Amino acid sequence: MDRKPPEGDPPERGQMDRRNPLHCLVPDYVLREVAKRGGVEHREAALDTLGLSATLRGARTQAEARRAAIGPARPAAAALKKPQVNRLIRNAENGEDLNSPIVRQEGDPKTGNDAVDEAFEYFGTTWDFWFEVYARNSIDGAGLTLDGVVRYSQNFDNAFWDGDQMIFGDGSGQTFTRLTQSLSVCAHELGHGVIQYDGPLDYQGESGALNEHYADAFGAMVDQWRNGDTAEDADWLIGKEIIAEGVNGKALRSMKEPGTAYDDDLLGTDPQPGHMDDFVETFDDNGGVHINSGIPNKAFYELAVALGGHSWEAAGRIWYTALGNPQLRATSGFRRFARLTQRVASQLYGASSKEVDAVEAAWDTVGVPRQREAPRGRRRGRRPRRRVVRT
Ligand SMILES: [Zn+2]
Repeated sequence: MDRKPPEGDPPERGQMDRRNPLHCLVPDYVLREVAKRGGVEHREAALDTLGLSATLRGARTQAEARRAAIGPARPAAAALKKPQVNRLIRNAENGEDLNSPIVRQEGDPKTGNDAVDEAFEYFGTTWDFWFEVYARNSIDGAGLTLDGVVRYSQNFDNAFWDGDQMIFGDGSGQTFTRLTQSLSVCAHELGHGVIQYDGPLDYQGESGALNEHYADAFGAMVDQWRNGDTAEDADWLIGKEIIAEGVNGKALRSMKEPGTAYDDDLLGTDPQPGHMDDFVETFDDNGGVHINSGIPNKAFYELAVALGGHSWEAAGRIWYTALGNPQLRATSGFRRFARLTQRVASQLYGASSKEVDAVEAAWDTVGVPRQREAPRGRRRGRRPRRRVVRT
């Protein structure tokens, strides 16, 4: 299957929904738990966030359809410009207009509004990471303006990449606080943009979990890069700054120890597995995209720690190179991705390098086999036919 649909030819609706859905930070199942377990105020905030997410998904689908009809932008011309970050922050002032007035853009001084200034700063840190570490000029590699909407809606406990913009709520203050406070959250959302341009990875099942995994890995690496943390010393937490007071949790997700980020009366228990033995089969959450991402998250953590030094060096380089590799398909699952990372490590560092060994060991740790499965027909053929004996 081709990785990209033919230009000017809009993808079919079902395909479009899977490839270009709204990429949210907080999965619906967490919000549903809050609605189920919480008091009236908790329930209202969670249900409002869920309802708005559904509306945004619909708007996203329409925007994609319009863009597909117009055709892709031309990054080649933009690439000739001298690279520099371009940021643009809109303040929705607790309303829901994604075209709200621009309150800060490149060159403007601080506004004094926390959400506006945090998003502006963290977009800058994330752009710097991409440019300085991987020589990538913005999300699309061609200087795309980083467009963010802050203070979106009321009690909105989520953040999104909608294909064009990053959207951040202020949080309800009961489960999550202002989502712009977290660099890993901002970098996660921008990471979805990079994945969209270099992937894509269908937002469903294992490929969707890889999409979420990549966004978490980029989020964690940007955070670690800002702090100068080594892989060993880093906390590998996503969204530690947004957990509200009184919630029994340390973050939204832990790449180091999936399944341990929170265990709370309101949020429920972190459902992420860290091994294939605990893989969650579900129709919920687009087939567990925020759940089973724990498995590649853990593998990436294992690899980075085994290689030592900084995560964005060898481990990040292997992963980033794999993302742009044509052998990564829109529907790639864990097994195919594991083989690809092994091949990429071999191309970058040599077939008998410690990097290749570490990639193999990391996938072994989380129970993802790299060998090709025997073709189904052959396997079936070997199996003896069952006889029904009547007595
Ligand atoms: Zn995400």
